[in-house]
Amino acid sequence: MTVESLAAKHSLALAQRRNNVSLNRYSGRFAPSPTGPLHFGSLITAVASYCDAKAHHGQWIVRIEDTDIPRIYPNSEQHILQCLDAFEFESDVEIIYQKERLDIYDNVIQQLKQTNLVYACECTRKMLGSNHVYVGTCREKHLNFQDQAIRLKVSDALICFEDRLQGQHCSNLQRDLGDFVLKRRDGIINYQLAVVVDDYLQGITHVVRGADLLDNTERQIWLGQCLGYPQLNYMHLPLAMNDQGQKLSKQNLAQALDIQHAPQLLRQAILTLGQLPIDLDQPHKMLAQAVAQWDIQRIPKGTQIQGTFQ
Ligand code: GLU
Repeated sequence: MTVESLAAKHSLALAQRRNNVSLNRYSGRFAPSPTGPLHFGSLITAVASYCDAKAHHGQWIVRIEDTDIPRIYPNSEQHILQCLDAFEFESDVEIIYQKERLDIYDNVIQQLKQTNLVYACECTRKMLGSNHVYVGTCREKHLNFQDQAIRLKVSDALICFEDRLQGQHCSNLQRDLGDFVLKRRDGIINYQLAVVVDDYLQGITHVVRGADLLDNTERQIWLGQCLGYPQLNYMHLPLAMNDQGQKLSKQNLAQALDIQHAPQLLRQAILTLGQLPIDLDQPHKMLAQAVAQWDIQRIPKGTQIQGTFQ
């Protein structure tokens, strides 16, 4: 049986109903990983995802993506919550923490095992070397799942989606990436799995996030197809770059958002997104004005915004 037909069969078997989720209503989210304090780039994502959801009369949800326990940075979860408070963002449902949902992801892996869409892989990073495409070394080895990484089979087909800002984006996962890991050998659930499962279970319809995640999208679409989930709408925002041309990131030691300057930073983020100026006031009023003026046509084109952001 081909991987495609397995996926199609599986998706029928798995099409589950979600509770309390209206499928027609726009539902967006902001899903930071607490691997460092929030920085100006994170604020841009928060503002854009919030304004786009609210301008569509939709709901906006905050989710903390903390499955990668070894990479969690001390106090960054707390900093995220402090920032949400200071910038007066309010999640429309209770914030969820992925590290409390590991049994849900394991269940999904069980379902994928039953339909033979995943397999155990014993390859170490060292064995894979500098090879960026996994060639399926363990696909036919039928190893026991105990203490091994778990990989999802991908197909030799082009997956394309139409990004609301970046236009059409395509990838042939088998050629560009190969079968990819859903659960690591050390038991850590991979971001790709957690994000797809939670977007589905939370009824997310629209994803607004940084263009650094553009290349992950086909993987997530494929996994969603394997699980019978509906495809989402995507908008990948240009990334704010620092004066050395690097994207703002925790690795580049981007400055933590200073909650003492929330209104000024908020205004700067809204302007960076190309939106009309807003009056400097309390953050919730500023956000309301930004929502009323929200226009994605004004967002700078491309995947980068040059600037002197820190
Ligand atoms: N948790 C991811 C991050 O902080 C974002 C996930 C997503 O928006 O899909 O980079």
